[in-house]
Amino acid sequence: MYEKKDNKSRVTPAATPLSTLGEFGLIDRLTRDIPRYHPETLCGVGDDAAVIRCGEEVLLVSTDLLVEGIHFDLTYTPYRHLGYKAAAVNISDIAAMNGIPKQMTVSIAVSSRFPAEALDELYDGIRLACEKYRVDLVGGDTSSSARGLMLSVTILGTASPGEVIYRGGARPGDLMCVTGDLGSAYMGLLLLEREKKVFEVNPGMQPELEGYEYQIGRQLKPEARTDIRNLLQTLGVHPTAMIDISDGLSSETLHLCHRSGTGCRLFEEKIPIDEHTRRMALDFNIIPTITALSGGEDYELLFTIRQEDYERIRETEGITVVGHMTASGEGKYLITTDGKQVPLSAQGWDGMREKETAL
Ligand code: ADP
Ligand code: MG
Repeated sequence: MYEKKDNKSRVTPAATPLSTLGEFGLIDRLTRDIPRYHPETLCGVGDDAAVIRCGEEVLLVSTDLLVEGIHFDLTYTPYRHLGYKAAAVNISDIAAMNGIPKQMTVSIAVSSRFPAEALDELYDGIRLACEKYRVDLVGGDTSSSARGLMLSVTILGTASPGEVIYRGGARPGDLMCVTGDLGSAYMGLLLLEREKKVFEVNPGMQPELEGYEYQIGRQLKPEARTDIRNLLQTLGVHPTAMIDISDGLSSETLHLCHRSGTGCRLFEEKIPIDEHTRRMALDFNIIPTITALSGGEDYELLFTIRQEDYERIRETEGITVVGHMTASGEGKYLITTDGKQVPLSAQGWDGMREKETAL
């Protein structure tokens, strides 16, 4: 509970620490009692984007906030890449709804430490993403900040109502599929962090990044899978549920199960991980599967299809069946390569890795 004192809001000792709620507990607490006034609001909080009826079409809206020191580190993130990534990760949320990205707004808060040229570069990256994904930059807001850089992007997209794919449409028996490969963005991050530490101890050292271009590219300049909409259309497959993989396969699988009211069986041996990333993980003393389950930031898509659609996607390069949905009472399990059933947790395997939350 909050209590007002001396004109300033101060938190009393009885207050609930945010760490006890976690990100999703907090969102739920803040939004659960908010009423809706408009029948056009078809879907509010809880999916990759809100869905709003707009004539014959639906409007898709999603927003993301990136904070220096929390979501990005400017010691190894070029401004141009940051701008590109901020745009791409929002566009990814429209791809996750099976929509077409159309417009975005960009808001920035900057401290006096940043010269205009840095922001020029940031916008070069945003412009590049807008060009690649054919999105119009239509507004935003600019403010000074007491410390550091903050960047918030809101993306708008459209779809016809029948095209929209929600997180909650999966049914027991549906097959779980992922696009591309997972875990490389996380290994890119670990490598950049390692080289940063080396540099801090010995500023004369040059970072050793050669040979890791794929992993670093996946971390610094991710792409949104807007191509999957067309691919699925061509294959004649309409997924029953979909989500983008921003936080790691475990966490996204749990979101799909939660919203769909299902359980799942995810097979470790099926999870697509780049061979080089796999070896790199072992060099870093990490179980490669963990990079896919808990790493995040790959911005691939996880979707479910009916079993009868299996033949249509079976031969498709870049789509991998990784498991299936079960009845909710059957639990949510990872089946390890040696055949063990392990309960899925947002951290991958329970207790195997402590993951910092953003809060
Ligand atoms: P994603 O990972 O797809 O960007 P998030 O995990 O950030 O989605 O958010 C989950 C859901 O909660 C989304 O529907 C988002 O719009 C909503 N949400 C997040 N933060 C807030 C907030 N502060 N107030 C209202 N809704 C929020
Ligand atoms: Mg998302």
